Amino acid sequence: MAEARLIDGKAFASGLRERVGKGVAALKAETGVTPGLATVLVGDDPASQVYVRSKGKMAAELGMASFDHRLSAGTTEEELLTLVARLNADPLVNGILVQLPLPKQIETPRVLLAVNPDKDVDGFHPINVGRLGSIAPGARLDFPVPCTPLGCSMLLADALGSLAGLHAVVVGRSNLVGRPVAQLLLRANCTVTIAHSRTRDLAAVCRSADILVVAIGKPGFVRGDWIKPGAAVIDVGINRVPTAEGKTRLVGDVAFAEALPIAAHLTPVPGGVGPMTVACLMYNTLQAARRKAGLPFVAV
Ligand code: NDP
Repeated sequence: MAEARLIDGKAFASGLRERVGKGVAALKAETGVTPGLATVLVGDDPASQVYVRSKGKMAAELGMASFDHRLSAGTTEEELLTLVARLNADPLVNGILVQLPLPKQIETPRVLLAVNPDKDVDGFHPINVGRLGSIAPGARLDFPVPCTPLGCSMLLADALGSLAGLHAVVVGRSNLVGRPVAQLLLRANCTVTIAHSRTRDLAAVCRSADILVVAIGKPGFVRGDWIKPGAAVIDVGINRVPTAEGKTRLVGDVAFAEALPIAAHLTPVPGGVGPMTVACLMYNTLQAARRKAGLPFVAV
């Protein structure tokens, strides 16, 4: 069997960013509106600092306004909710991103609920979760959708065209990845199975998949012989593992070298789904600004 065509998420994300940048310029020219993204970081977790910095930097590169809010690790829930209320009311802010995880003293669901659903560019607000959960097949996504799942669905549509009638198995049922990926695939008319840690004979379930999306956080867990020959495999996992040289490297949840000769399409880690997440955040922010300006949804 021929080797899988690698799905180049890095290149696709770069194209998406370019199209979003053009969309930003067109919106400015048409309405004078500059899309604005507010990022909120509570505490000093180094990984979160890197993520938030890269999001703000990319927004600025695409011509958006970026508002960076850093709060100390000891911030109370009330203080954070006050900031969120201020950003909800700020006409220059179209997207609000509260970086997770939040410190223990803050109840994350209360904060996610406080974000104006129209500015919820992460797609985590219960209203947006409900919108995705009740969307009609093929209907337009004219509300914010979680970024990593949106990125997975864009990569699949680009690689396969129509997904209608294909059997998609999503391994993982988190609110962040697995569940919204499954909803997006259902919207694309796939027959969807959601698998998780209690699934019996996971290997056999995976082997029945035309599309296999894996988001569990376990390095190399899905083996080559779990994959149906010719399947499209989207590996969402990001795991840091030690190398023989005493360094670390990133690997996915799928045993990449084993999957390569069996799958027809495969995302590498890194360079697959990862770069799509921030690009989709920019996409969501542009769409939020367009909606605020009363303009219709545009596919970019
Ligand atoms: P969670 O830990 O929230 O969820 C993991 C899911 O995997 C759970 O539903 C769990 O099942 C399931 N699971 C765990 N072990 C097994 C197993 N042995 N067999 C079957 N299912 C299992 O993780 P996330 O969804 O947040 O993230 C998953 C992965 O995706 C991580 O590696 C994360 O780093 C990566 N990720 C990558 C992103 C990107 O930008 N590319 C963005 C977000 C996440 P159960 O519900 O039964 O416990």
